[in-house]
Amino acid sequence: AKGKGKNGFQYFDSIMRSEVEFANTIKRDLGLALEKNQFFLCYQPLVDVRTGKVASMEALLRWQHPKKGIISPFHFIPIAEETRQIISIGEWVLRTACRQKKEWLNMGYSGFSVSVNVSVHQLQQPDFAKVVCEILNEIELDPRHLELEITETVLIKAMDTVVRNLYHLKEIGVKIIIDDFGTENSSFRYMQKFNFDGLKIDKSFVSEIKVDVNKAIVDAIILLGHRMELGVTAEGVETKEQLDCLVKCGCDKVQGYYFSKPLPPDEAIRMVQKSV
Ligand code: C2E
Ligand code: CA
Ligand code: CA
Ligand code: CA
Repeated sequence: AKGKGKNGFQYFDSIMRSEVEFANTIKRDLGLALEKNQFFLCYQPLVDVRTGKVASMEALLRWQHPKKGIISPFHFIPIAEETRQIISIGEWVLRTACRQKKEWLNMGYSGFSVSVNVSVHQLQQPDFAKVVCEILNEIELDPRHLELEITETVLIKAMDTVVRNLYHLKEIGVKIIIDDFGTENSSFRYMQKFNFDGLKIDKSFVSEIKVDVNKAIVDAIILLGHRMELGVTAEGVETKEQLDCLVKCGCDKVQGYYFSKPLPPDEAIRMVQKSV
C-alpha cells in the first residue's frame, strides 16, 4: 500500500481489497485443505490448580497454507461453518485428537483427558454422537478420556437434535464443557436443561481481572459453577497476578500462556513430563 498512502480513501480501499482477497483465498483453498493434509493440531494444557498437574490437553486447529503460512482458526472456522465443511474438518479434528490421546496413553501418560472444540453445526447433525462413538470404538479409546467444548451459541440454538446428541454423549461418558462462558447473552434456563460437566471462563474476563467488575464476574461464575457442581476453568491466564487472583476465587483449572502456548504434541507432552 506504500505510495498510495497519501490518499486516505485509496489506502482504506486497498486494505479492504486485500482483506477481501484473503477471504477469497481462504474460501477457495479450504475445500482442498483436508485432502492435501494441511491441517494439524496444537495442544494447550489445562492445569489443575490443586495438584499443579496437567488435567487436560485442548486440541487447537491450525492450517498450514502453502502460500499464506499458518492460518488461525479465527480466520477459517467461520467460513468452514458457512460452507458446512466444518462437519468433515471437525470429524478430522476429533479423530486426530483421539488418536493422539491414545498414543500418549500407550506411552504411559494417563493422567489427563483431551478436549476438542465442537461447532454447533456438528452438534446439529443427527448422527454426530454416533460418529463420535465410531471414532472412539475404532481407536479403542475410553470415552471418559474425551471432553467436548461447546460454546453458548449451542445452548441458544439448543434444539432436539443438539440435546439428543449431548445426552447420548454424556451417557457413554464423554464430558461436556461450556466454553467462553459469559460472552453470549445466553439464558441460565439452558443450564437447567442439560447436566454439563464444566464451565470455561472466557479470557476477556481473565485478562482484565484487575478491573473490579471483571473480578466480580469471575467470582460469580466460579460460585455459580460450584453451586451446580461443575468444574470451573479459566482460559487466557498470562500472568502470576491473574493466576493468584483466580486461585483466591477458587478456580479449579487454569490455562494460558503463563503455563504454555498451544504446542505440537511432542512439545506439549513436556509439560506433563515436568509435572510428574
Ligand atoms: P477457544 O476455544 O476459546 O481457544 C482459546 C484461544 O485462545 C486459542 O486460540 C488459544 O491459542 C488462545 N490462548 C490460549 N491461551 C492464551 C493466553 O494466555 N492469552 C491469549 N491472548 N490467548 C490465549 P486459537 O488456537 O487461535 O483458537 C481460536 C478459536 O478457534 C478457539 O477459541 C475455538 O473457538 C476455535 N477453534 C480452534 N480449534 C477448533 C476446532 O478444532 N474446531 C472448532 N470448531 N473450533 C476451533
Ligand atoms: Ca475451547
Ligand atoms: Ca475458550
Ligand atoms: Ca475464548
